[in-house]
Amino acid sequence: MTSKDKKSEPNGSSIIASRVSREIRDISPYSVPRFDCKIRLDGNESPFSLPKEVQEKVDRAIKDISINRYPDPDAKSLVELISRVCEFPKEGILLGNGSDELIGMLITTFSSGTGKILCPAPTFSMYKLTGLAMGAELIAVPLDQNFDIDLENSMSYIEANDPDLIFLASPNNPTGNMYSAGKIAEIISVARGVVVVDEAYSDFSGYTFLPLIKECENLVILRTLSKVGFAGLRIGMLLARENLVNEINKVRYPYNINSLSQAVAEVVLENHEFVTENIQLIIRERDRVFNALSAMEPIKAYPSDANFIFFRVNNADSLFSRLVEKDILIRNFNKPGRLKNFMRVTIGTPEENDSFLSALSEVLSS
Ligand code: PMP
Repeated sequence: MTSKDKKSEPNGSSIIASRVSREIRDISPYSVPRFDCKIRLDGNESPFSLPKEVQEKVDRAIKDISINRYPDPDAKSLVELISRVCEFPKEGILLGNGSDELIGMLITTFSSGTGKILCPAPTFSMYKLTGLAMGAELIAVPLDQNFDIDLENSMSYIEANDPDLIFLASPNNPTGNMYSAGKIAEIISVARGVVVVDEAYSDFSGYTFLPLIKECENLVILRTLSKVGFAGLRIGMLLARENLVNEINKVRYPYNINSLSQAVAEVVLENHEFVTENIQLIIRERDRVFNALSAMEPIKAYPSDANFIFFRVNNADSLFSRLVEKDILIRNFNKPGRLKNFMRVTIGTPEENDSFLSALSEVLSS
């Protein structure tokens, strides 16, 4: 091909056609719509900023960082601190730039068996997006009517396909509920590949599968600091048997946790009483918002073990726009099929929740 021929291709499309895998060409990026609303209840973040005295400690810690130097490649002292807080051996802990990065590392590491990944649907979209981008085959098993795992179906898919990886987010996003613990345990015991229990929201459910790692060599737990007040730090945690962690660690990029995040995470974890109080407040507010939503016609709200509530309305697109007009942003999941007219609201401060509830009831009654 001459340089003249090359120029005739618009926008380098020949490069895309010949050099980008079909899998990547076929997927859409993970997109978070950015609306400039004053009240943001769309991202499952914590609404609370740092208490003044913790903020001052953070400021002092940041001052001491030499940003001309690379960070500690193994984030050693942060890992040791997490080991103490989670009461889990440090050799079994690996950190990621958010648990998103850990999901990618898991898929890169465990992909050479059948090349298949199984997860329930609906669930967190990054399992599918990352899996497809890396050439895996995704098997989505629909959740049952209560958004719990359909055990019979899952078991027969596992038997027939022997997936390398199974992702179970419990509590699940976007549905908000925990799956039955017995069903998860059964899947772990039957699966021959790795089962990842993603506990991004477990601080709000008070339930963890962590102790099961002692008995189950194929169990990996994911946690994150994103939902309890520190989404900006991008700190995800993987906990598993040491031999699994050693393999996953081989595909980790060097210096994946930057110096600022390491230093700030250490300060907030050393002073974490305020985090526990904030979690308790979110749980109380979740129950209050759930009761208020359940009392509103024609809303159907689903019980939540997380820091958000999943609910169905008559016309999600119109409700979404009307709330944006009132400076309130929630998440609209509306699409044809099972998620038709479903929405998700993150629990905010009591004032933000009040504003959301009164805006919602105004819109519904107009
Ligand atoms: N797992 C689940 C179930 C999530 O909902 C999210 C965030 N939406 C993540 C993982 C990713 O979290 P992080 O911010 O740690 O990348």
